[in-house]
Amino acid sequence: MLKVVKFGGSSLADSKQFKKVKDIVTADDSRRIVVVSAPGKRDKTDSKVTDLLYLCHAHLKYGVSYKPTFDMIEERFNDIYEGCGLTCDLEPEFAKIRSRMNKDMSIDYLVSRGEYLSAILMADYLGYHFVDAKDVVFFNYDGKINLEKSYEAISKKLAQYERLVIPGFYGSLPNGKVKTMSRGGSDISGSIAAAAIDATIYENWTDVSGILMADPRIVDSPKPIERITYGELRELAYMGADVLHEDAIYPVRDKQIPLNIRNTNMPDNKGTLIMESFDEKEQSEEERNRFITGISGRRNFSIISVYKNRVSSEAKLMRDVLLVFQNYDINIETTLSGIDCFSVVVSTEKVKEYIYDIVEEIKAACSPEEVKVMENISLVATVGRKMMYRPGVSGRVFNALGDQNINIRMISQGADEISITVGVDNRDFEKTIKLLYNSFVTNN
Ligand code: ASP
Repeated sequence: MLKVVKFGGSSLADSKQFKKVKDIVTADDSRRIVVVSAPGKRDKTDSKVTDLLYLCHAHLKYGVSYKPTFDMIEERFNDIYEGCGLTCDLEPEFAKIRSRMNKDMSIDYLVSRGEYLSAILMADYLGYHFVDAKDVVFFNYDGKINLEKSYEAISKKLAQYERLVIPGFYGSLPNGKVKTMSRGGSDISGSIAAAAIDATIYENWTDVSGILMADPRIVDSPKPIERITYGELRELAYMGADVLHEDAIYPVRDKQIPLNIRNTNMPDNKGTLIMESFDEKEQSEEERNRFITGISGRRNFSIISVYKNRVSSEAKLMRDVLLVFQNYDINIETTLSGIDCFSVVVSTEKVKEYIYDIVEEIKAACSPEEVKVMENISLVATVGRKMMYRPGVSGRVFNALGDQNINIRMISQGADEISITVGVDNRDFEKTIKLLYNSFVTNN
C-alpha cells in the first residue's frame, strides 16, 4: 500500500491544524508522500498566505511598501514554527525571498513561496524529506505539465528518501524558472504525485467531509456523497459544484487510482470516494435507496433560437449557426433542435457584448424566419450513474417542477444518460434545486 495525501490551506492554517495533519499522516504508515498547500484562513476574517503573497507582488509592482504584508506572512510561518516546536532554520529562507524583492521579481516565484515554506515546516515536523517541487514537477514552455518527466523524478526521490513532503501549486519550466499552476493547483500536484508512484489511493484532505449532494447554501444540510464516478464528478463540477481543481482528475484517472476526499477536522469520516466505476453490489443501504448522485447548477445563460421551416432536415443551417459562435470564440453549452427551430445555449456573460452582431450574422448566413434571444436562464443538472438503467427520472424531474409551477424552458440529456439538465428562469434557480433535492433525496 502506498498513499499520497494532499492537505489544503485550511488544514495547514496554524499549528493546531499542523498537529491534526501529523496525527493523520502518522496514523497510517503507507501515507508516504505528503503534498501541502500554503496556510489558508484561520477564520472567516483571515487572509490566505497565497493572497498575501499576491498582494506583496502588487505592492512591489506599484512601488508601495511590501514590508507590512511580508511581515504578516513571516509571522504566520513563525507562529506555526513555534507552535509545533520546530528546529529548522527559517531565517535564511525569508532572507533569500527578501533579497529578490524588487519590481522585476517573478510573480510565480513569489506566490509559490507559501507552499514552499509550508512544506519545509511540514517536512521538519513529520521527519520526512523535503523535496522542492521545482525539482520534480516539470512544465513545458506551452504551460502543459510534462507528466512522464515529472513521474520519473518523483518516483526516484521516493526510492531514495522513502517519505517525502512536496509543496503543491508549482513546478519549473525547462529553463529552471518557477512556474505556478492556476489557483487551487495543489490538488493537481497531489494527483501527479499519486500517478507517479502508482499509489493505491490519492487522499485529498480538506475541511468538508466529502462532496455534498447539493450546494449547502441552497439546500439545508445536504447529504454527503459516499461514492461518485469521475464522469459524474465532471458533470457536477462543470455545473458549478466546487470541490477539486478540475485538472486534478486526469493524472489519477488515467492510472485508475481512486481519489478520496477527506476532512482533516473529522478524520474518522470516510468522505467521498471517486473512482472510474463501482461494483454496485457493494453499495451501502443508503446508496441503494437513491438513484441520483447530486444536483448542481449555474445561472445566467442565454438561449438563441433560430426559426426556419424544416430546420431539422437542414444540416447546413445548423453548421452555419454554430460557425457564427465559433467565429466569436464562444463555447456552446448545449444545442436543442426541433422541427422548425434550432437553439443554442451559451453563457450570457460571454455572448452579451456581441449579441446584436451575432443575431445579424445568423440572419445573413441562413435567412431564418426569426431569431429570438432569451436571457436570464439557469441550467440545473440532476446527475447520477444509476439513471442509466432506470426509467422515469425525467418524469420525476417534470413532476417535481410542474407541481410547483416552475416552467421548464429547455431540457437536455446526454447520450451517456448520467445527467438530465433543465433550463429554468434565473428567479426559479434555487427553488428548482430545492425541489429536485426534496423529490429525489428527502422524500425518496
Ligand atoms: N495556495 C494556492 C491557492 O490558494 C494553491 C492551493 O492551495 O492549491 O490557490
